[in-house]
Amino acid sequence: MTKHIFITGGVVSSLGKGLTSASLALLLSRRGYRVKLQKVDPYLNVDPGTMSPFQHGEVYVTEDGAETDLDLGHYERFTGVNCTQESNFTTGRVYQNVIAREREGQYLGKTVQVIPHITDEINSLIRALDADDVDIAITEIGGTAGDIESLPFLEAIRQYRQEIGRSNGLFLHMTLVPYLQAAGELKTKPSQQSVGILRTIGISPDMLICRCEHSLLDEHRQKLALFCNVELDLVFEEKDVDHSIYEVPVELAKQNVDARILEMLDLPVNALEMNDWTRMLETLIHPASGKVEIAVVGKYIGLQDAYKSIYEALTHGGSANDVKVDYRMIESEDIESDGCDTILKGVDGILVPGGFGDRGIEGKISAIQYARENDIPFLGICLGMQCAVMEFARNVCGLSGANTTEIDEHTPHPVIDLMEEQRAVTDMGGTMRLGTYLCKLGDGSHAARAYGMPEISERHRHRYEFNNAYREQMQQKGMTFTGLSPDGNLVEVIEIKDHPWFVACQFHPEFQSTPLNAHPLFLDFIKASSGPRIVETGSAIDRSAVRH
Ligand code: GLN
Repeated sequence: MTKHIFITGGVVSSLGKGLTSASLALLLSRRGYRVKLQKVDPYLNVDPGTMSPFQHGEVYVTEDGAETDLDLGHYERFTGVNCTQESNFTTGRVYQNVIAREREGQYLGKTVQVIPHITDEINSLIRALDADDVDIAITEIGGTAGDIESLPFLEAIRQYRQEIGRSNGLFLHMTLVPYLQAAGELKTKPSQQSVGILRTIGISPDMLICRCEHSLLDEHRQKLALFCNVELDLVFEEKDVDHSIYEVPVELAKQNVDARILEMLDLPVNALEMNDWTRMLETLIHPASGKVEIAVVGKYIGLQDAYKSIYEALTHGGSANDVKVDYRMIESEDIESDGCDTILKGVDGILVPGGFGDRGIEGKISAIQYARENDIPFLGICLGMQCAVMEFARNVCGLSGANTTEIDEHTPHPVIDLMEEQRAVTDMGGTMRLGTYLCKLGDGSHAARAYGMPEISERHRHRYEFNNAYREQMQQKGMTFTGLSPDGNLVEVIEIKDHPWFVACQFHPEFQSTPLNAHPLFLDFIKASSGPRIVETGSAIDRSAVRH
């Protein structure tokens, strides 16, 4: 039988429930359990696919093509286990299912109501995780206790636990214990109040994880235990970590949070094996081979969450090469106003990520031209690949005005054009080319060398593609098409011959990178970017021993 852990949040949003869920999943899996994670979002969008990254951060794509919350990225990176369509659902999805059933006449004349119909639907989406190969399901309830929109979810999990009992379902509440500078102390009252809100709904948390800037003292734990009705040894802290989010599981393990969870779920507490993780952390925090500076040129730069998986994958690539990655985050519009020479000077590598729409696109194209002409390693992803094609068409092939039809429908040279299968699409939600597809790599290419295999599978999220009418012309000028769909029709990877490392892909490699298993393209990109270069002392760094 699958056991459940329900994680709720209190006091404020952005407590790091996703990271905590992912960390617990890692620890439980390292104690021999098969864990599946799920994120529930209380907003009305059916999924985050149609939301701006400024609203929501990155849209994370699963291998089976779900457009999901970025927390699922943490889940996959921490556990190495892939999420699926069941791993994320929203209020919008719940209502869509219920209303569709109502229209089909399946409620047989009944009045359809939040309780029981919406709550039943929520519970059936949670129950979808129950499976022979899932020992423990962790469901993270998005939002904060007290939000009107979270109420049906809280009522649903209250009922769920009532049915399965305490030894099969746990309530874990995350709260904030703020430090008041003026008073010089940590304050437990907000946590008490947030647990109070849960109690009015009928949920009494079994354990607390308290986010804090300073360690809890015994007196704080005692207060929290007494007023929140939680056993003293089930009040845990999650202090801000110093260097890396990947420290969180190690910090939780020091307090035995995972072991206590297993005891409460009546499951044997097997030994915890984390050696590879702590080794990885050591290299990540104290790399032996210096630094590399990577420019990320995008249009949602102000919000770090918008490119979450990209920054993580760069970090993984850095630690695999034993170097620290510094990001230079660049608004592509700033390049349009100030030029590449000032903004990109001195960077070791340039990355242009995916995106939509025309804002800042010319800045991205200029950055790519700068990388190409100055032999700076370049990695382009999705729109980044499309921009690389436009840049090459305009500046090398002389196709002035070359563009993607996403931006200029009347361009004289539509080098990037809508995919055939997209022409009849009218709805925007969930209709892109989504999820995993195979790709064949050309012999001798950077991509083939990086992956070390001729065929790969990668995740996609796009409507536009390289226009094959221009393949020959661009090939003649030195662009190589080194990754193609198995039928040879879709261009998935491009490279430029006479350049040290210029690779761009239509897919999103960042979604498959994990700290223990850096993605080959990111690993190779960082390796190329940290190639022999002059350090301040004037001596060249020998990179021949860099781990691959
Ligand atoms: N807007 C482009 C397309 O739809 C690129 C998408 C992306 O970068 N994810 O094809």
